[in-house]
Amino acid sequence: MLATLRTRVSWVSVDLIPVKSPRNRASSRAVVVGGGLIGLCCANALSRRGWAVTIVAERQPGEASLAAGGILGPSVESAVGWTHAFGVKARDRYPELIDDLKDRTGIHVSLLRNGILEVALTAEEAARLEREAPIGSQWLTPESLRDMEPALGHASGALYHPGDGAVDNVLLLSALNRALAVDPSVEFADVKAMELLTRAGTASIGIRTRHGLHEGDVVVLAAGSWTPLLAGLPRKIPVTPVRGQMLALGAHPLTHVAYGPRGYIVPRGENSVAGSTMELSGFDVATTEEGTSAIAAAALSLCPPLRVAPEVARWCGLRPMTPDLLPIIGRDPAHASLLYACGHSRNGILLAPITGEIIASLADGEAAQPDVLPFSIERFRGKC
Ligand SMILES: Cc1cc2nc3c(=O)[nH]c(=O)nc-3n(C[C@H](O)[C@H](O)[C@H](O)COP(=O)(O)OP(=O)(O)OC[C@H]3O[C@@H](n4cnc5c(N)ncnc54)[C@H](O)[C@@H]3O)c2cc1C
Repeated sequence: MLATLRTRVSWVSVDLIPVKSPRNRASSRAVVVGGGLIGLCCANALSRRGWAVTIVAERQPGEASLAAGGILGPSVESAVGWTHAFGVKARDRYPELIDDLKDRTGIHVSLLRNGILEVALTAEEAARLEREAPIGSQWLTPESLRDMEPALGHASGALYHPGDGAVDNVLLLSALNRALAVDPSVEFADVKAMELLTRAGTASIGIRTRHGLHEGDVVVLAAGSWTPLLAGLPRKIPVTPVRGQMLALGAHPLTHVAYGPRGYIVPRGENSVAGSTMELSGFDVATTEEGTSAIAAAALSLCPPLRVAPEVARWCGLRPMTPDLLPIIGRDPAHASLLYACGHSRNGILLAPITGEIIASLADGEAAQPDVLPFSIERFRGKC
């Protein structure tokens, strides 16, 4: 999936103005708009650094973080270069977050780190994958693949990407919500954010809701596909909803995440989650017969033993997609107290923990580590 992040982008530099330095930890408040995985990870990281946090979130049908497959796949499709390195760093943040949430909530969020299989179903596909294998990935012959995953015994081989895997994003959302609900420095405002209020030339910033104003030292915009709909934004945010339909099938013949030419399968508990479609249909969150049949056909050709598995559930969600498929992470160039954490496109589960850490360090007036200049909203200046 992160192969999409290989897209080259051009960007212009922005002044990295500290929000406040030094910051008064006792009184600093962050207002986070959005209660998906990105918003919750930002709130969590800010709270860990001593900020008081208000999460302004209104549940929406089609929230991406609940709908996702949970794949942590920076290496899939031979991603290379800095986006690959960033994705690997993001992936490797997961064990610490999962352990921390287990300590705080008792919820054990399942995390697969046994590698992803990129499966070839024809000899041509096998030759291409073997030829394009990135450093660190390994070509598996049909025999070795069969030894690893008997349910893929019909395939022509697979590229094995060690270290990649998947997280149960549904459980992760529950654990984060529970951890933050008992965190005394975090409050939830379960209401729609209507307008961003900024005052030119001052650090003053806030979010207006129908219940009143939430003021903060920083505001973090993390409302997924809905982010551009907020009134009062200082510039256009080029994020578009892209619908993805999913199926859960009631069997678990695989122990690894498997990618085929037309879809993927993620083992999750007793089920297999299969995805997905990419559709431009606005904010429509209905599943369709056409979409789910295509997913089922792709899943069965990838893993034939799933033929006997009953359909357990179908759903869809809205990916917050940017034109270059890279997220928007960083400060607004004109309002240093406005932070963007949106547009995570197809990789928001992978990138959520690292996004939270980066946003918290920017809020503290530090330079982001790793550098997020390529993710600046400035790259879209004059283009949207
Ligand atoms: C079908 C599908 C499969 C995917 N699979 C993967 C995968 O395998 N791996 C991966 O890394 N990524 C995957 N993704 C992408 C990933 O899910 C997203 O990039 C990520 O979840 C985005 O998180 P978010 O918090 O920005 O948005 P969301 O999860 O959509 O959350 C946005 C939040 O903002 C709230 N909100 C919206 N408007 C307002 C408002 N005005 N006021 C208050 N609150 C508001 C919403 O209610 C919601 O809680 C997938 C996405 C889809 C749809």
